[in-house]
Amino acid sequence: MKLKDGKTARELIDFIDKSPTAYQAVSFISGELDKAGFSRLWETDHWDLEPGKGYYIERNGSSLAAFLVGNASPEDGFLIAGAHTDSPGLKLKPAAGGDGSILAGGGASVLPVEVYGGPVLSTWLDRDLSIAGIVQVKRKDRNKEDSYKPELFDLKRPVAVIPNLAIHLNRDVNKGVEYNPQLHMSALISSSGKDSAGLKDIIAREIGCPADDIGPFDLFLYDTAKGVVSGINDELLVSGRLDNLAGCHAILSALKSASAAGVPPLKTPVGFFFDNEEIGSRTMQGADSGFLKDVLDRVVMVRGGTPEDSCRARAGSFMISVDGAHAVHPNFPEKHDTEYAPRLNGGPVIKSNAGYKYATTSEGEAFFRGLCETAAVPAQSFVMRSDLRCGSTIGPMTAALGGIKTVDVGIPMLAMHSIRETAGVFDQQAMIKVLSAFFD
Ligand code: ZN
Repeated sequence: MKLKDGKTARELIDFIDKSPTAYQAVSFISGELDKAGFSRLWETDHWDLEPGKGYYIERNGSSLAAFLVGNASPEDGFLIAGAHTDSPGLKLKPAAGGDGSILAGGGASVLPVEVYGGPVLSTWLDRDLSIAGIVQVKRKDRNKEDSYKPELFDLKRPVAVIPNLAIHLNRDVNKGVEYNPQLHMSALISSSGKDSAGLKDIIAREIGCPADDIGPFDLFLYDTAKGVVSGINDELLVSGRLDNLAGCHAILSALKSASAAGVPPLKTPVGFFFDNEEIGSRTMQGADSGFLKDVLDRVVMVRGGTPEDSCRARAGSFMISVDGAHAVHPNFPEKHDTEYAPRLNGGPVIKSNAGYKYATTSEGEAFFRGLCETAAVPAQSFVMRSDLRCGSTIGPMTAALGGIKTVDVGIPMLAMHSIRETAGVFDQQAMIKVLSAFFD
């Protein structure tokens, strides 16, 4: 294992720290693309595309597609890499006409939450939590069609905590606890019920408007602890949301370097950043929507291609679906099949499953192994133990909806879906190298 420097790790940690939710992640990605010379397009507008130029489109402010128009004919297809912008966690319930917080036992104020995706609930207890997402704010100009406009919101400071129960009140705590999300996961925001500022007051003060102007919101709790480089040789990355902001960061880095090369690529490289993978992707902006096909077909047709050319382009495309992989855990080695047990800093992992919970086919695996050889990066394999059920990714959905050959890969990590996950510094560098070789 060779670690050149910690630059990649620091950049990834900076991205994650600035991206508490999918909305901030997309805002960060679009800012980086602006700096790299990409132009923003809107789905509601007409598009004009020039070979060699970069463009991006957002959907719902939480998903994004970016591409660099290639020199080849439109029907020659795309080089696609995709990842997801969301992470499992706790979403605040709507304000329900009140101020968003409720009076709970003992006269304290708590924020009621719903579980988003599959977080390890116990890791959310006793953390310094803040609130981020989007808020609908009343427009000053009421002549506009819609009377509210969405604003990014990030409180940035700790305002809430989900306290554990003292061991004296549950002597069996270390034998395992089942947390009921309705009863046990509300977040304490004030020791008093009356006279304390409610959630809408806090939001209004932060945005600088009257509390009456605060409309509905999509807000999540998040851990304010920053990501760190750890390990005796600075080889570990410990942070929240590595699943899957590490994947987003790797794709963004590869897209930026393809654009910086200054020479138009042959086929068109595309990066997809999808929201809602953690809840099954079935939303307007998720991977199980028309977003991928809409963007690809449109790029072909805007460049003079026919509907048949769109089909030819997708059939001639390849997609790398990038998402976290399970590294073998030093304290639970029996959870892996020993022959398919990726280790941290052993290189990117190719994920396969007989039930196609991962989209990888032998053809896809062969293609990715070839890329790793070109990039001089080692590749590892993951197959779940045959007596355990594996997770899934965006890969099977985009492969099915687009009719696109796909491989599922990712960097190995520990404690996936914990509020803090652990990955390897080298693996992130290696993934960027492979994706850069793909887009090259
Ligand atoms: Zn994931």
